[in-house]
Amino acid sequence: MSSGSSDPQVHRLHLQEALQLAREAQEAGSAPVGAVLVNAQGAVIARGRNRVAEAQTAEHVGQASVAHAEMDVFFGVGKLEDPGTLTLYTSLEPCLMCGGASALLGVGRVVWATDDPWGGSGRLIAWSSHPAMQETEVIPTPDPELEAEGALLFAPEAKRAFPEEGWALWRGRYPRETEGVQERDPEDRTPRV
Ligand SMILES: [Zn+2]
Repeated sequence: MSSGSSDPQVHRLHLQEALQLAREAQEAGSAPVGAVLVNAQGAVIARGRNRVAEAQTAEHVGQASVAHAEMDVFFGVGKLEDPGTLTLYTSLEPCLMCGGASALLGVGRVVWATDDPWGGSGRLIAWSSHPAMQETEVIPTPDPELEAEGALLFAPEAKRAFPEEGWALWRGRYPRETEGVQERDPEDRTPRV
């Protein structure tokens, strides 16, 4: 099983890098989500970020709603050696696709900075009770400061991309971080992702 660190400072270090990658994704026009894959010795072996609004290349999946940060990590790293010893750090709770991919690959542990009460897999299934996912340990939101930072970073995207029902869940889960986020311009016809 997983042999990664349980030191809060180690979580913090890797979640900070995931958040930095999330900001890079935002600057590139994609959704602000980042992820890093860390081995049992604490070394980052792969980095990824959301690329939904960027061109597909030989190196990266892009221009598709499946171009999530975690998928970017998994496509980039290739075959995993001893996946049960690896920890995936993400800036935002993985969706069902990315959570499913992590479990399918046998990743030992998934740690995320901020919950996603609409798009996160936790709204749909409990990892601990699903036969395909219960081998993967999950550690949600271990660092309150980075949790708030991640919520502030993603809130405008949640407001833009999610339906009213999803935004309402965000407002309920993160009232402070979603306060004052701009109402979506009714003239804005940008497709929702
Ligand atoms: Zn995803």
